[in-house]
Amino acid sequence: MIISVASGKGGTGKTTVATNLALFLAENKSRNIRFLDCDVEEPNSYIFLKPEIEKTQPVNILVPQVDEKKCDFCGKCAEVCAYNAIFVAKDKVLVFPSLCHGCGGCSLLCPQKAIVEKKKKIGVLEQGKTFAIKFVQGRLEIGEPMATPLIREVKKKIDSDEINIIDVPPGTSCPVIESVKDSDFCILVTEPTPFGLNDLKLAVKLLKKLKIKFGVVINQADIGDEKVKKFCQKDNIPILTQIPYDRNVAVLYSHGIPLLIEGEKYKKIFQEMWQGIEKELKK
Ligand code: SF4
Ligand code: SF4
Repeated sequence: MIISVASGKGGTGKTTVATNLALFLAENKSRNIRFLDCDVEEPNSYIFLKPEIEKTQPVNILVPQVDEKKCDFCGKCAEVCAYNAIFVAKDKVLVFPSLCHGCGGCSLLCPQKAIVEKKKKIGVLEQGKTFAIKFVQGRLEIGEPMATPLIREVKKKIDSDEINIIDVPPGTSCPVIESVKDSDFCILVTEPTPFGLNDLKLAVKLLKKLKIKFGVVINQADIGDEKVKKFCQKDNIPILTQIPYDRNVAVLYSHGIPLLIEGEKYKKIFQEMWQGIEKELKK
């Protein structure tokens, strides 16, 4: 089973929900739990889960290198590249590795076999464990724009016999789509503010397009207004649970301590969330 935890915008408490749900399930479920941090630009779930990293491996993509002695400057490689990562001039081929997605299309279609591929490191994949949770995270190189190939590597570690919790990057762009696709269920974490509602609407549109079942968790539920709740009611979107505003949560967060440490109050919230997910999955 794959449960992803996403939010239309950053700072809504997405990682707090993802990590605490994993801890709650690890304590209360008989199935193995696996946590995959796909927020590869800024992975921070390790701060709360404190895994012991046992294996680190580089993740590379293959970018083209042109042998101009073989090249006849026909321009086919530039034509086939959907990302404008190759430019062919009269007697020069320019490759822009930061735009290259490593799809291999140009080298495959080069009539002169003038393109070889060289490795470019985009980040690392780290694996380990914490409590009873298997932990995987991707860590993108600083300044590297290609998050999706690294996210794909993280997702290769999904085990369908376990409950896989995915921490999705914020927003609604390509890395989000790559992270949430194939999920059995997606939890959308939001806050009851105009910004929260606006970004929730975008995330809902995306999940409907991807045909993924989803429900909403309202964080800091007693601040802001009722518009998020009204939107969910009108659109028939299940509100899985609401997490009240609590200054203590911010204090725990700043110390990297999971909220379940606060005891029964939060355990009940995560129990309600999980029951809501199970109910939706049965529909
Ligand atoms: S497709 Fe091959 S031969 Fe043609 S311009 Fe590109 S590298 Fe050169
Ligand atoms: S590998 Fe793909 S993305 Fe990269 S330059 Fe070639 S065609 Fe473009």
